[in-house]
Amino acid sequence: MRIRDIRATTVTVPLEAPLRHANGCHWGRFVRTIVEVEADNGLVGLGEMGGGGESAEAMFRAMKSYLVGHDPARLEEMRFLIANPTASLYNNRTQVLAALEFACLDLLGQQWGVPVCDILGGRLRDRVPFAAYCFFRYPNPRNGTSETRTVDQMIEHARALKNRFGFQTHKLKAGVFPPDYELEVYRALGAAFPKDSLRFDPNGVWSTEQAIRFGQAIEGMRNDYLEDPVYGLNGMRRTREMVRIPLATNTVVVNFEQLAANVLDTAVDVILLDTTFWGGIRACVKAAGVCETFQLGVAVHSSGELGIQLATMLHLGAVLPNLSFAADAHYHHLTDDIIEGGLMQYEGGSIAVPDKPGLGVTLNRAKLLEYADLYRRLGPYPYDKDPGRPQWTPIVPNDRWADPNEDRVVDVPY
Ligand SMILES: [Mg+2]
Repeated sequence: MRIRDIRATTVTVPLEAPLRHANGCHWGRFVRTIVEVEADNGLVGLGEMGGGGESAEAMFRAMKSYLVGHDPARLEEMRFLIANPTASLYNNRTQVLAALEFACLDLLGQQWGVPVCDILGGRLRDRVPFAAYCFFRYPNPRNGTSETRTVDQMIEHARALKNRFGFQTHKLKAGVFPPDYELEVYRALGAAFPKDSLRFDPNGVWSTEQAIRFGQAIEGMRNDYLEDPVYGLNGMRRTREMVRIPLATNTVVVNFEQLAANVLDTAVDVILLDTTFWGGIRACVKAAGVCETFQLGVAVHSSGELGIQLATMLHLGAVLPNLSFAADAHYHHLTDDIIEGGLMQYEGGSIAVPDKPGLGVTLNRAKLLEYADLYRRLGPYPYDKDPGRPQWTPIVPNDRWADPNEDRVVDVPY
């Protein structure tokens, strides 16, 4: 089997409401680029990458000069063809490699008649548990519903998610409002769900001293971990010396060099593996092996996914022996998907690992076209800008918080 063609299509799929975070906002939708790698036997493998537009589509087209005629089974060689580490000083293609790796694994699974998890060592579990990913949200731009800003709104949001999807873990995405306000919201979540576990993620925008103050204030709650309270391994290490909660990261340990640094002088306890940031599912499996050796925790990170990327997270979650935490996914915020059958279903807070050959998801071409059209109409959005605060700059450490009492309507194209 040889690669014959590579195609990429950028889509945008609406969210229930705009998701606020420490650096800005997801403006009511995700922008993703869907990649199709076609083999000379007619099989098509699927990949997905965050962001997109003309430059992303052109980047994947440019990869044809490297990969047409290449055997998709030679995945290690593909890594050096397009993401050789020293050549990456000029061309950082880690995320491109990830999307192409997903598609090649999908091709191999289809060709060999096995699900991707069987290529990765075989499944240890049939379902992957997920956390409720709770965001502060602006109201839905069309109907004004779903605002999540006050303590009561957040509890109601988390309760609705738990009732609908069965979550037993709640993650609060924070770093938006003053830390003391977010502490009040987090404590209220803990009180509302005393038997469930919790995790808190301010996206690294606090000072080390603020991280220590907050971390000490939540000791004794049912925390899985405190995620990226501060940006940088040294701030994380200083926080870890003063706070008796495991620290987790998806920002300062996202490659093997950083993982080695963290093993030699530990700053982080739990490594959140992202199939895109690390350059593929196989890189995450390798990193999990290092974590297993040094007895660091692992969990599955979400950088905002449609069904293809979600499938990569499920196959990853299926094969990790040391996955001791629920995975993260933005997925439940989506209103639709571009795969056949629509959105994958949660049951009891978990999603079944696909068992069809390959990634086990099929592209719904009508949906792909519908959301490619929507992307052409709406274009990209600035992830690192807040539509409610156009003059705001997200500095680190931050001291320019949003006002939790501000309830004016924000205009977001939708
Ligand atoms: Mg995070």
